[in-house]
Amino acid sequence: MELEVLGNKADTEVGSYFISNYPPYSVWDRDRVPDALAVLAGRPAEPPPLGLYLHIPFCRKRCKFCYFRVYTDKNSRDVDTYMQALADEIALYSRQPQFADRQFEFVYFGGGTPSFLSADQLQRLIERINRHWRWDAAREVTFECEPGTLRESKLKAIKAIGVTRLSLGIEHFDDRILELNGRAHLSKEILRAYGWAREIGFNQINVDLIAGMVGDTETTWKETVARTLALQPDSLTIYQMELPHNAVFSQQIKDGGEDVYVADWPTKRAWVQYAFEQFEAAGYRISSGYTVVKPSEHSGFVYRDSLWRGADMVGTGVASISHVGGVHFQNVDKWDQYLAAIEDGRLPIGRALPIDRRQALIRELALQMKLGRLDFGYFREKFGCDPATEFADAFRQLVAWDFVEMTPDGCTLKRAGLLRVDGLLPLFFQPEHRSIRYT
Ligand code: SF4
Repeated sequence: MELEVLGNKADTEVGSYFISNYPPYSVWDRDRVPDALAVLAGRPAEPPPLGLYLHIPFCRKRCKFCYFRVYTDKNSRDVDTYMQALADEIALYSRQPQFADRQFEFVYFGGGTPSFLSADQLQRLIERINRHWRWDAAREVTFECEPGTLRESKLKAIKAIGVTRLSLGIEHFDDRILELNGRAHLSKEILRAYGWAREIGFNQINVDLIAGMVGDTETTWKETVARTLALQPDSLTIYQMELPHNAVFSQQIKDGGEDVYVADWPTKRAWVQYAFEQFEAAGYRISSGYTVVKPSEHSGFVYRDSLWRGADMVGTGVASISHVGGVHFQNVDKWDQYLAAIEDGRLPIGRALPIDRRQALIRELALQMKLGRLDFGYFREKFGCDPATEFADAFRQLVAWDFVEMTPDGCTLKRAGLLRVDGLLPLFFQPEHRSIRYT
């Protein structure tokens, strides 16, 4: 197989290559929703860890590279209606036999922009949820924030609900680039929000950057890396800029109107490598193809590591994604449909896919590859097979490309492989899933 086939061409073209799940969402189907309902009605013998994802789909502005289901036109009454529906959905799940006596190990507020909510809205949501399902036992509660939505009082309210990790979407420090890409915040808001968050004493602060936003250059990227390092976050996540099909930029390119240029993939990989080197020199450690952590301060990523090892997760909110008992499912992605289902007392599941054992194996193997190493002993014990034999062709190819080194009990990605890991994962996929559109 050629590297080109893996969607890893030099130019940044319209399309996604980031892999967050397997099999691809495009093969999940409305006809399989009964499989999701059946698994929810059952009682697992030995349940894996369980997580809760809450999708807060509101943003102040739509970023031009964004492909998420988000709304920028809802008023506070709409937001209240949605938050009531979210709490009602969690109440519906809490009554499913599948979850009897199960506690959440991790909770994730994602978006959209969870910090779009006011302190009061957040407080009310938590009170409503607590009537049905408490998360006191959760080892990690993560909350995504957009810097411009934060005030000191709101950050205090966020901490008061038990958030252990604040994830701050900085993306870049150059105001011109932030504006060009449609971000709602500016650099001064980043510094203000970060200062408050540190003073208030969040256990963990993660910051996100995107390498190669429209307008980014080597100079602006290096400046952003330096300013991010100066903050001394507990962890840093770096994404490489993509042009997903339904993003504003992608539409502009398809329409042939405005000139939208995103740095090519080799450049973006070089920029991430530069950031990794700067952070490593300052004592940070690489934790995945996108993440560096400060070892002395970091407490691990429960959400990421649990999901990548096959945990169950209840995804709530419009278009949210769940994995329970070997079935993937996703909520309907239309506002009215979502609210109507909750109003009727129905779970708003729109499409589903039960996965077989081999697909579960591929999913975990692909996701754990993002860590930069695989422990084959884990797969032997859990799936009763040896990845080196099962995926011999894929590993042979990766070794031939010099992206992977086989070790006696696993494999390690070399830096060149780690920086392009998502483009390599389809090698492990079933043939029918290798080149289809992901969403
Ligand atoms: S803040 Fe995040 S979710 Fe909202 S539009 Fe921007 S990228 Fe999308």
